Amino acid sequence: MYAIISDVHSNLDALRAVIDDIRKRTPSVGILFLGDIVGYGPEPNECIEIIKDIASFLIAGNHDWASVGLTDIEYFNPDAREAILWTQNVLRVEGSEFLKGLPLTAEVGDIFLVHGTPKEPQDWHYLIYLEDAEENFNYFKGNICFLGHSHIPFIIERAGDGSLRTLGKRVKIKSGSRYIINPGSVGQPRDRDPRASYAILKGDEVEIIRVAYPIENTQRKMKTLGLPRALIERLALGR
Ligand code: ZN
Repeated sequence: MYAIISDVHSNLDALRAVIDDIRKRTPSVGILFLGDIVGYGPEPNECIEIIKDIASFLIAGNHDWASVGLTDIEYFNPDAREAILWTQNVLRVEGSEFLKGLPLTAEVGDIFLVHGTPKEPQDWHYLIYLEDAEENFNYFKGNICFLGHSHIPFIIERAGDGSLRTLGKRVKIKSGSRYIINPGSVGQPRDRDPRASYAILKGDEVEIIRVAYPIENTQRKMKTLGLPRALIERLALGR
């Protein structure tokens, strides 16, 4: 059994709520982390400490690498860039060393982990549509790929005959099929549901779970620290 979490983005309140929810369901679960511990939010060091402690397998996201100078921030939008520069200033040495050591992909038995796409992990492309998924099924082994980056939860199934479809929030894994699954974002959901999002894989069942957290609390901290207004407002809108 695994809990799969992604895109925490320095949102400690959301991360705590998700961990509480996971622990309530089961005290012993492996946690797989799909990248972007930091960026956007107010508590990067605290989130690094927790993820470091609880994740059994973890990989880098573009914001993790950007905040330690490993990837260019030219293509970041101005608010995201401002938050990265702020993060670079407040990151503690242990935290940045830790982020520098994160790999781009990981394999956990039959499960493949990547932040952007299996085809080009280092280029941070988004995988959102079925046509993007189709090609990417050729770039990982095993039957399930978990990925993040878009902050939009989904489950895509490729049946034995090659046909693709998007499924609901709770799915039984079939032995002849393969899957690309985005658990959504813990710290900055973008599917118009502001609650934190993560996934549980238990036996042959995968489920996307939503958890409410005190958004105003996070917004207050961001305001005090002078983080960009649009980043504060979007948390309540889930976009
Ligand atoms: Zn992200």
